[in-house]
Amino acid sequence: MGNRAERVVRVNGGVPADRPPSAIRVFMNNIISDVQAVDIRNDSEEVVLNSHYFSVYQEALVIRLPIGQQAFSLGIMFIGDDVASRPDPEKTVRHEYGHTVQYANMGLFGYIEEVGIPSLTAYYLKKQEQLPYDYHSSPWESKANEHGDVEYGPFKNPWTEEHGYYDIWDLVEQVYNYYS
Ligand SMILES: [Zn+2]
Repeated sequence: MGNRAERVVRVNGGVPADRPPSAIRVFMNNIISDVQAVDIRNDSEEVVLNSHYFSVYQEALVIRLPIGQQAFSLGIMFIGDDVASRPDPEKTVRHEYGHTVQYANMGLFGYIEEVGIPSLTAYYLKKQEQLPYDYHSSPWESKANEHGDVEYGPFKNPWTEEHGYYDIWDLVEQVYNYYS
């Protein structure tokens, strides 16, 4: 095993230093740097945020997608390529990790029903400025925060039963009403 500098020299071998690297070379170097950073027990959010295409966070696979500041999970964590420019990007990584714990506990179909559909619906309503409570205060989001050991809030409009939102179907009905 050579040191890092020697390896980089080998990868760039034959290319004059003043020539800008080609797209394929940048791509290959990014992959090599991601592979070198892989550690199944990694618990550093920084490693995830600095990855180009993939990484591992507390044994969960993380894929970077060109979806800007957004992130979601389906057993695997999908972290947008611009999440690092969020105010608290580490929180996003820990929150999405919390969703992978939910997935492990619920299985695919339980997760789709109890987390996937509710959060997509709530996210959609939020975009339309129709969500009557703070997104992260809903039961499925606060559970993910608990699993990921991350805190959001205090909430101005927390999810409460007084709002009349007992479960996901109240939200689905709201989307339906919005369009009818
Ligand atoms: Zn979430």
